[in-house]
Amino acid sequence: MSDSFTYVANPGRVVFGPGTISRLPDEVAILGLSRVMIITTEARAYLGMQASDLLQDKVVLLYPHAMMHTPWDVTETALRALKSHDIDGLVAIGGGSTTGLSKALALQTGLPQIVVATTYAGSEMTPILGETKDGIKKTLVDKEILPEVVIYDVELTLGLPAHISAASGMNAIAHSVEALYAREANPVISLLAKDGIRMLARALPRIVADESDLNARADALYGAWLSGICLGSVGMALHHKLCHTLGGSFNLPHAETHSIVLPHAMAYNANAAPAAERAVAEALGAVSAADGLFDLVQSIGLPTALRDLGMKEEDIGRAVEIALSKPYWNPRPIEAEPITALITKAWRGDRP
Ligand code: NAD
Repeated sequence: MSDSFTYVANPGRVVFGPGTISRLPDEVAILGLSRVMIITTEARAYLGMQASDLLQDKVVLLYPHAMMHTPWDVTETALRALKSHDIDGLVAIGGGSTTGLSKALALQTGLPQIVVATTYAGSEMTPILGETKDGIKKTLVDKEILPEVVIYDVELTLGLPAHISAASGMNAIAHSVEALYAREANPVISLLAKDGIRMLARALPRIVADESDLNARADALYGAWLSGICLGSVGMALHHKLCHTLGGSFNLPHAETHSIVLPHAMAYNANAAPAAERAVAEALGAVSAADGLFDLVQSIGLPTALRDLGMKEEDIGRAVEIALSKPYWNPRPIEAEPITALITKAWRGDRP
């Protein structure tokens, strides 16, 4: 090994496995908490009840009001409730939306968080918060945002519908792919990234075939955890910026946009990042990384064209303009002509 590199690890305790929500009382005791607030979305309120049954008198507030994109007014209302109940810790159960509210509250209060993650988004592994104020989603990074404890209970993911699992899993794969060619890429994170892609790529088709396949669910959740570590440890590049632009400006769904754009972003960067190209292809068991990703997206029944998500052809020009407007690091320079070609192909659903 001849390259020099810097490796930064995020602290955190992880409990992984089927049925591990039963470990919640132990984890609450280890943190010394006695007055916790349980956070879910309305749709997952039943998971909050399940946690409350386990924690009994340690729970003083059940709060099933988390919303997508962490709107500031929701956080403000939750903060008032938190303060009036003298809370000493947060327990969040759900996907990235629920984790978002927990992180926003932890940032304001410094309270410790236990996150029980039920999707493959990976937010629970990062010190990053995407918060929406006055209609604008801003990204904040702070060590208070990083959850202290994460529980990955494989059984809780059995209820995640096949389509959401597939899209959420591709979102996780995107974290690992971009970690392999990130500016801060390093051999330790690359190990995690390769295994994250390998586990998810093998698991997702099995989940789509049978949502109740517990082994496939365990592989996917493990892969999502590894991919979440990648997202929380190194910077992202072209793919994440494009998805942010497309999602934010044209109101396209987060995870599906990731699935469509990823093979094209990989193709754009393949020659500039040959080691990443080889690693992704190998992890997928494919001849080329971009083709392997495109085939995977198709095989798990996800859309391959941005037009199928409702993006208009006349929006391509504006998307290119926004993508070029704020310079950011990428292994290959961001240039108008090839970016226009990339977005056009992704819009049409062409093979990269
Ligand atoms: P989400 O939490 O909204 O969940 C997606 C869908 O899955 C929802 O419909 C939800 O009800 C459903 N769901 C969740 N758990 C379920 C279960 N066990 N059974 C059945 N259905 C279930 O979104 P997400 O995809 O988990 O995360 C996306 C959000 O997280 C975005 O807002 C994104 O910006 C954010 N995110 C943030 C980071 C970060 O580091 N800050 C990282 C990744 C994602």
